[in-house]
Amino acid sequence: MKLFGKGRAQTHVCPVCAYLKLPFKPYKQWPPPPDLELTPPYEAQLGKPSHEACPQCGFVFGKEDTSFEEYRYAWGGRGRPWADPSVAPPEDERRFAILGPGTYEGFDRPGLGEEVPEQLLVQAQRLEAAEDVMGLRRLVTRLARDGITGYDVVAIGGFAGSSWDFLGFDVDVQGLSALRHREEARSPYFSERLNEHGLLADFADVHKFAIAVSPDALLPIGRLRRSAVTPGDRLWYTIGNEHNPGDPFGRIVLTVEADGTAALEHYGGRNGSGTWTARVDTDVIARIRAELGRSTFPEVAREPIPAGSGLRQLEVVTDDEPEYVLMGDRQGQRLDGYKEAFALLDAIAIRITTGAYERGDDALDATAITDVRQIT
Ligand SMILES: [Zn+2]
Repeated sequence: MKLFGKGRAQTHVCPVCAYLKLPFKPYKQWPPPPDLELTPPYEAQLGKPSHEACPQCGFVFGKEDTSFEEYRYAWGGRGRPWADPSVAPPEDERRFAILGPGTYEGFDRPGLGEEVPEQLLVQAQRLEAAEDVMGLRRLVTRLARDGITGYDVVAIGGFAGSSWDFLGFDVDVQGLSALRHREEARSPYFSERLNEHGLLADFADVHKFAIAVSPDALLPIGRLRRSAVTPGDRLWYTIGNEHNPGDPFGRIVLTVEADGTAALEHYGGRNGSGTWTARVDTDVIARIRAELGRSTFPEVAREPIPAGSGLRQLEVVTDDEPEYVLMGDRQGQRLDGYKEAFALLDAIAIRITTGAYERGDDALDATAITDVRQIT
């Protein structure tokens, strides 16, 4: 088995976004030694930087006001936009598919099953061929309304957008998922390095695979955020970057269903991580929606987001239709309607975490949050 044969094309992998075709070495010593834990300033570890920007994520090697991890999270939060759209993969190399219940586990995961009515199968094929993401989203939501749950809309081959969760890289060899079918991929070396989606995510592993197989065989996989394909009205809110040393609060992901059922994940911050469930008084949900009704939601004036700034992302689902907004932390503290809505969402998170999350003030009534349970 040849795993690490001779490299072919002289391209390099971006340590931030795992872009596979960097035409330059980011630093003098590249790739980094396998056992080296990379910490800024990277120049001290890896030698002279190129001072060039990655065409995918835009990170400038040598301009190190943020770490790779912090930049990766911020760029991911903005929807993984291409810094140089001219090098984005052509559209015919991308496709969308509805995949069956379960974890991702390779893109030959089965599509719609026998429990799906024939006419919807035909419709799904048409929507996939037309790359109609909104149509696919509505179809999956409709199936879930009928009790046929667990399906995902998956983007294969590099698609930017804020509604997608990036899962990792799969390996395409003649249309089959190499992570399931290639001998190399099943080797202990790689099988131990797959993430919870069964994909390669670490840039050093991506780099090794790109050399062993071919950069063209690696495809990024995205999944439409599940909050956007689950029936019912809902609020989904996230802010913060646990990899930013200037962000002492860490990142939260808050989901509040129409009946008040809430789930909160908290990552990093000075008081540590945790997950909780709770119940939010429906009056509080109504107040948040009323404040958003006064704002320009889902529109917002586009302002540059400074490096190191937190990102606020909010998705509101009404009658199964999601609307979404993204803005910098500061902008969210300034705009009428938005600032009150964000203050209420932050207050919910403070109360649920019993103060472990500290961004903003808890101005809620004593009865606004009940049934708080810490899961982890
Ligand atoms: Zn990059």
